[in-house]
Amino acid sequence: MKIIMLGAPGAGKGTQAKMIADKYNIPHISTGDIFRANIKGGTELGKKAKTYMDQGLLVPDELVVDLVVDRIGQDDAKNGYVLDGFPRTIPQAEALTAALNKIGDKVDFAIDVDVPDSNIIDRMAGRRACVSCGGTYHIKFNPTKVENVCDACGGELILRDDDKPETVQKRLTVYHEQTQPLIDYYTKEQILKSVDGTKDMSEVFQAIVDILGE
Ligand code: AMP
Repeated sequence: MKIIMLGAPGAGKGTQAKMIADKYNIPHISTGDIFRANIKGGTELGKKAKTYMDQGLLVPDELVVDLVVDRIGQDDAKNGYVLDGFPRTIPQAEALTAALNKIGDKVDFAIDVDVPDSNIIDRMAGRRACVSCGGTYHIKFNPTKVENVCDACGGELILRDDDKPETVQKRLTVYHEQTQPLIDYYTKEQILKSVDGTKDMSEVFQAIVDILGE
């Protein structure tokens, strides 16, 4: 099963993507996580990506597409994957369609986690990310067992630079301009499914399972 997660930054698509990956036993491929790992590792890619990410801008398509095409070609992705944060622009979506076409393959579902902007700003301020493993939490909606300590690895939790309110506003503008057109793109491809992302995490997940099947 090959799945794309769509939705504004902060809509909760990363959390849902992880739950999908666990349930269906497919890798969770997050371009944001890949960039953050590269930033942490001090790679050339990380250095380039950081200048865009810190401003709430998208990393240029040419730095993203090959990376994803390469990742989905790896062995663990043979039976499917859930893409989180990619594609984010029409050229990225077209590149993905073309790369899959070449091997006679296609995406099965594009799931849009729909949340209005007004909810997003509040949510992002409560978001926390683990500096060690990249795990994400929310102080209200998805708290850790011990405050500021990652449940998964014990790492320290922080408010990511790109989750700060001024950056969030910029990211939402970028989302509406560059990523929202993908809703039309995947509607035309007849694989778009929308879920109400304002509901509880577990309710959103159930709605997704209803779409994907048990
Ligand atoms: P995320 O964790 O998915 O919200 O991504 C964090 C940041 O990484 C974004 O605001 C972008 O700057 C960058 N990024 C992640 N995925 C992409 C992508 N597919 N295209 C361009 N930039 C991306």
